[in-house]
Amino acid sequence: MPPSTAATGSSRLSRIRTYLVPARVVNLCFLIVLVSSTLLTWREVVVLEDAYVASQQNTLDKVSSALDRQMEIGVNALLFFRNAMRAAVETPLAFEVLENVQTEFAQQRKQPFWRISVEQRRTLPITGVSDDFVARHPLLSRDNPRLQNEMTAALEVGYIMRLATSIPAMPRHAWYVSRAGFFLSSQPADVSTESVTRYESLLSQSWFSGQSFHDNRFRGVRWFTSRQHTAGQEPIVTVSVPLDYGQYWYGVLAIDYAFSSVKTLLAEALRDEEQGEYQLYNSELEQVVTSLPAGVQPHAFTQAQRQTLMQAVAQSNSGSLRFGTTFVVWQKLDRFDGLLLRIHTLREGLQGDFGTISIVLALLWLLFTAMVLSSWVVIRRMVSNMYAMQHSLQWQAWHDPLTRLLNRGALFERAKALAELCQQQHRPFSVIQLDLDHFKNVNDRHGHQAGDLVLTQAARLIGGCIQGEDLAGRVGGEEFCIVLPGSTLLQAQRVAERIRERISRKEILVQNSQTIRISASLGVSSAEPSESYLFEYLQMVADKRLYLAKWGGRNRVCAVDPIQDAPNT
Ligand code: GH3
Ligand code: MG
Ligand code: MG
Repeated sequence: MPPSTAATGSSRLSRIRTYLVPARVVNLCFLIVLVSSTLLTWREVVVLEDAYVASQQNTLDKVSSALDRQMEIGVNALLFFRNAMRAAVETPLAFEVLENVQTEFAQQRKQPFWRISVEQRRTLPITGVSDDFVARHPLLSRDNPRLQNEMTAALEVGYIMRLATSIPAMPRHAWYVSRAGFFLSSQPADVSTESVTRYESLLSQSWFSGQSFHDNRFRGVRWFTSRQHTAGQEPIVTVSVPLDYGQYWYGVLAIDYAFSSVKTLLAEALRDEEQGEYQLYNSELEQVVTSLPAGVQPHAFTQAQRQTLMQAVAQSNSGSLRFGTTFVVWQKLDRFDGLLLRIHTLREGLQGDFGTISIVLALLWLLFTAMVLSSWVVIRRMVSNMYAMQHSLQWQAWHDPLTRLLNRGALFERAKALAELCQQQHRPFSVIQLDLDHFKNVNDRHGHQAGDLVLTQAARLIGGCIQGEDLAGRVGGEEFCIVLPGSTLLQAQRVAERIRERISRKEILVQNSQTIRISASLGVSSAEPSESYLFEYLQMVADKRLYLAKWGGRNRVCAVDPIQDAPNT
């Protein structure tokens, strides 16, 4: 491998090693565990929310089916009245009592108000207004060729209407309002001027005027909500259907819907379930009835929420929406032109089964997270302690504890590697070998501790003279080796001289206020390109030169061999 590639490879490896320090690995593992557990819990929450929506919709579905069944009774009754009337218009019964109706009508039709009653205990009376009234009103007309049939049919239907509205499950109030200036009510009032006002008010109701060919093209049942109620009372909802025969619109059959029974149904539905609220809305999204008892304020939507709800309703027959902490499921009814809403607040939701599960889930997550975090703290601490211990052991293995310089083994290992590198890079490589002079005397005179102090001071002075990739190590008792990669013999000689000078100038405080001075002898060797870079060899040469320096009188540097030249003093 070329040196540059090897260098790049090793630098990449050391970068990976820097990133993969144990503390980082531990952090990463715990982060993965925390994120995974949070994601899993989140997934559980989503599943739980889906189940909650499904359960809410299921509950609503049950209630809306019950409501539809109740509505259907009224709608079926209305359609039955219409079928009966159509049949009667087509083929009236040829009873004498019914035939007299025509004579009576002919006598009374000009009166401002009039009444024709046949067997009051069996059927309902017809109440009417004058010809003039009919002529004045744009929707009314008595030019109907089957007018007599219509009247007798009304009396016939009055019979079933009277019976039907006396059944408890049936709507209380039913009408037939004719376009020929008369009406029939299941709750007849005494005939008086009031009757005219009553007829007039019936004509002004949208459930009557809204049944023209133009307004009700399909001629089916239509629901109307009337707001003409006194404050605090629920609006009146009326279901009506037009009576046509032979392309002629005769009048309108209608029943008032008893929403008190709907309210009871909704309130009873709530009793079996968790808390919440049901609200019935008409097609204009006006509230018709709520499950709450009178006096309790029903949940109100803001304008923006109503808008969102309207958009959702326009798109689908059922669905769910969440407004902040309020959860709404809605469903359109089959038998009523409106929709049923179930409103559940977060507080109410938490009191139910789903709330309990959610709380348990949240607590479990919290517990797990707390456990993970605490074990993370413990493991982090353990890892960093181990890391520090490993560092300390490593340092101890490579360094001399007294001088804190590299020990012999570590210095040799690193110096060999540096020598090889310098050879590859064609750079010079120098070695200085140093021995303190008469060191034994220091020990003998001032004690071993003072000797140790001297060694420490000498090591510090040596360390202060080297830089960059240079190495310094203690290779014997009072012997040191300095490795200078990239330095020529001359440069190394200069470094050696600087070290020698600093050591000889240093006054070392050994005990009490006593100071001593020491000196050192140094041998220098160097390898230039084309020479041997073998470290052991260079160290041996430097050692030889060191002893030349000793022989030469100590406190000096020797950088040459005696054969070539005299020792350098
Ligand atoms: P020279 O080198 O100038 O010839 O004389 P010297 O007295 O320094 O030579 P020698 O090698 O005979 O003495 C080395 C002494 O260093 C012997 C030993 O007691 C002492 N020594 C070695 N290691 C330590 C150490 O760790 N602490 C102390 N205090 N002394 C040490
Ligand atoms: Mg010595
Ligand atoms: Mg020695």
